[in-house]
Amino acid sequence: MFVALDDTDSREGMCTTFLLTEIIRRSKLDVIGFPQLVRLNPAIEYKTRGNGALVVNLAKGKGTQTVIGNFDGREIRSYAEVSEEPSVDELIGLSRDAVMEFSELEDPDTNPGIVISRSRFPQGLYWESVQGEVSIDHAENFVIENGGIFIKVKSGRGIIGAAAAISWPMLSTTYELLVYRYPKPERIEASLKESIARWCDTIPGTFNNFDPHNRYAAIFPKERTPVVFGVRGVEYEPILEAVPEMLKSSPIAHERYLIFSTNQGSDDHIIHNSEKFMENCSYEVTGYVEGIPRIIEGSHYFIRFRTKSGSIDLAAFEPTKEFRELFRNLKPNDELRVFGTYRKGTLNVEKMEVISVSQIFVRSSPVCGSCGNVMESRGHMDYRCRNCREKETLPRYRLKERSLIPGKYDVPIIARRHISRPYELENIARKARTLNRVTL
Ligand code: ATP
Repeated sequence: MFVALDDTDSREGMCTTFLLTEIIRRSKLDVIGFPQLVRLNPAIEYKTRGNGALVVNLAKGKGTQTVIGNFDGREIRSYAEVSEEPSVDELIGLSRDAVMEFSELEDPDTNPGIVISRSRFPQGLYWESVQGEVSIDHAENFVIENGGIFIKVKSGRGIIGAAAAISWPMLSTTYELLVYRYPKPERIEASLKESIARWCDTIPGTFNNFDPHNRYAAIFPKERTPVVFGVRGVEYEPILEAVPEMLKSSPIAHERYLIFSTNQGSDDHIIHNSEKFMENCSYEVTGYVEGIPRIIEGSHYFIRFRTKSGSIDLAAFEPTKEFRELFRNLKPNDELRVFGTYRKGTLNVEKMEVISVSQIFVRSSPVCGSCGNVMESRGHMDYRCRNCREKETLPRYRLKERSLIPGKYDVPIIARRHISRPYELENIARKARTLNRVTL
């Protein structure tokens, strides 16, 4: 039986992933496959942080077993198959109780939704929710049409994310192991955070652990929720081997951990080959630079960009840090493939391929044909050689060397969205099986 939920947390606390662990703990059922953390449209205004929704398949399991977590010393096992489905009423009761107990209900923007279904939903709602905006009514009708049950608390907006999570077709999957301490983790020194995040970089196939340029330990959340840290990777085995071992010997206080399969790093939010731009949707667009970069207060960079659907602005905001350096070096007619979210006529760039750079010529005085000296300008179309008094009318044009090199450029780890697929993920996946781990 699939149990999905969303919109239980606020900026002040809680995390829907933790609430899901609580439902698993209370149910005493087995997890079938992996619990799933499904990121939806990252530009949606209702989101608290990373627009994540959760789903788990709970039943009595059979077949191949994998230990996917540990709650206060009790192993959490995932099974390949269902041997016996639980009662729907029991699951409704226990998920509702957990949501009512743990959600940040006093926050006006927290509107929990629970969806329960015997089977997965068709993928339509997932694509609508990851690439666009969906209404509560639409999600409600979708759940009813597909034989599911929903529970709405307050406006119940969370049923959009919950239903979309059951619709995720898992075309591109990565993993994240999350470590928890309820209600909040202890404060961790910056130097310890850095050394743990750097160590995680040695686990094969992991990504977005540590940003060396900005000295940012990305595995630790910015805000204080029950999440202590989370390690993302393209394979689950290396993470499940390394992190629990590290936790045994580390000074980090924790109570439980659980690994999720996720659509993080999938780029599923990106709409390809679109003829038009819609507000709060994300696109892949190719085109040519027009004009030169503009900088506004706050050190945000903008540049005009010509696409086949008209001209738009590209933006690299201050949080993208050194990525703005690329914008500084763009020149008219550079050909780019950009990925980002469209808002108010501007595409906020999250990665960019420089397909080709335009040729720029600089004008200079000609060289004397007799002695090879650089001639002197005496005015319009009048060049003279000081040595041999030779005359020349035409200047010389020289190809300027460009500092911008064609290639693929990611924003730094500190500025990455969960769902965006960094170009470097291809290399990370390739190297995953060849890296050697070192001990902390
Ligand atoms: P966290 O990542 O910390 O769990 P969050 O960023 O996921 O928080 P929520 O508090 O869950 O934010 O709020 C997101 C809300 O937006 C949910 O109610 C969800 O159902 C809704 N939502 C998600 N995607 C869409 C969409 N495409 N259209 C409309 N509503 C959406």
